[in-house]
Amino acid sequence: MPKRNFAHTISTGNWLVIITLSLVFAIQHINYYLEGRDVNSRVEAKELTRVTLSMQKMIDDSTTAIRLYIYTGDKKYKKIFHKIADMRMHKRSWTEEYHYYFSALDSNINYEPKRSNVYQPIDYYKSLNADDYEIALLFDIKDIYDLLFAYENNILKRYDANDVLAAKSMLNGKYYLDKRLELSEKILTLDSNIKNRLTLQTDSKIYIQRILNITICFLIISVALFIIIFYKRVLKLVLSNIVAISDWSEKIAHGEYHAELENEVFEELLPVKNSICYLANKTDDLVHQLKEIAEQDELTKLPNRRAAIQFLVQKQKEVSRYYSLCSVILIDIDFFKKINDTYGHPIGDQILINVGKLLSKHTRDSDFTARLGGEEFIVIAPQTDLSAAYMLASKLKAKIEGYIHQCSPYEIQVTISSGVSSLVADGCVEETYKEADDALYLAKSLGRNNVQVYSGSSTKSLYNDNINASC
Ligand code: GH3
Ligand code: MG
Ligand code: MG
Repeated sequence: MPKRNFAHTISTGNWLVIITLSLVFAIQHINYYLEGRDVNSRVEAKELTRVTLSMQKMIDDSTTAIRLYIYTGDKKYKKIFHKIADMRMHKRSWTEEYHYYFSALDSNINYEPKRSNVYQPIDYYKSLNADDYEIALLFDIKDIYDLLFAYENNILKRYDANDVLAAKSMLNGKYYLDKRLELSEKILTLDSNIKNRLTLQTDSKIYIQRILNITICFLIISVALFIIIFYKRVLKLVLSNIVAISDWSEKIAHGEYHAELENEVFEELLPVKNSICYLANKTDDLVHQLKEIAEQDELTKLPNRRAAIQFLVQKQKEVSRYYSLCSVILIDIDFFKKINDTYGHPIGDQILINVGKLLSKHTRDSDFTARLGGEEFIVIAPQTDLSAAYMLASKLKAKIEGYIHQCSPYEIQVTISSGVSSLVADGCVEETYKEADDALYLAKSLGRNNVQVYSGSSTKSLYNDNINASC
């Protein structure tokens, strides 16, 4: 498993959440923009409709005025016609009824109404987002309206020249009626086109908004799920790291100094892991050293009395439990004081070291050889009965006796005396030790360089042919 960095994992998660939420805000912003644009389009469309309706009214009024004038001769209708004509040519102010047409042109700050008799509302229509078809219709309307206006002026002129018949026939002529009809149709088409365009825009806006809303929902649900799953996982991971470290440190605290940390932990925990490792190794070294000091003999490097007693206690438990065998050989170098006195203490030390090595060399790996102190040694032989132990002690006695210690310039030989006893199921270590010691004492008292075995309540010699004494 690759090394993981806790801070990096968390910040990756945070960035994912931030990016997703930013996306949600951005989409929401687009939503608001679409809504705003839709509202604008509605306002613009309403304005366009009002303008076209005002235009329609102006044309209707001008036609009605000329018609009434021709048929009644009432000059007030002529005045109305001229008033409308003047307004069209910007020679007079717009009246309230044509307000929308007027205000539409005038309220547009980008549009400078031309002081001419030709209206130029196209720019204004463009500013209200009229499409190309609507603008084309507007051109048509303007052209037809210009034609009608010129035609109506001609009717007026004929009438004023007393050619009433001609004026009336022009007014009721097919050309004039067709043009009026065409104009009305164009205005209606323009109006319905604006409405259709608006509906289409609104429909597409609703469609886009629906997609955006679904996307927002999806993103928010994803973020929520991500937060729940991701942070739960991270928490689980952190806890598993802590549990792994604490389990591991507990093993170390219980003496398993070489226990391995089972899982790879976050990078941030590596210093903790390294410190615990360092402390575990250090403690292991110290424990090892202490064990050596506590259980090893400084001179011969053999186990010492403490270790020997511990081993014996353990063997006693096994003997008591499984009725197994275990014998003890207590060994003492004969006349060792004399060696020291004759050759000096350092040579005495060397002989002690040599005897220790010889005892180890000629016993089994499963046997336990220790220096009890001074020139006394012990060999503990598991799975060995009394007679086998006697044979082992005799072999050791022969090996030591036959060894020549090269202590320049001297060549020295030493002998040992041994006392042998065995652990018994219902016995104890102290008892067996005392028995072996008694046997050793007997061996000494019988002249040394011999092996004595403790047997029952008496201790007897099984080896030294010269001595027949038994207790
Ligand atoms: P015995 O045959 O009765 O055992 O006589 P012994 O001289 O061996 O026994 P004794 O107890 O009289 O003397 C033991 C001697 O062992 C006395 C002491 O100086 C010597 N000794 C004890 N420990 C050491 C040691 O670490 N180094 C040396 N060189 N001599 C030691
Ligand atoms: Mg002694
Ligand atoms: Mg001695």
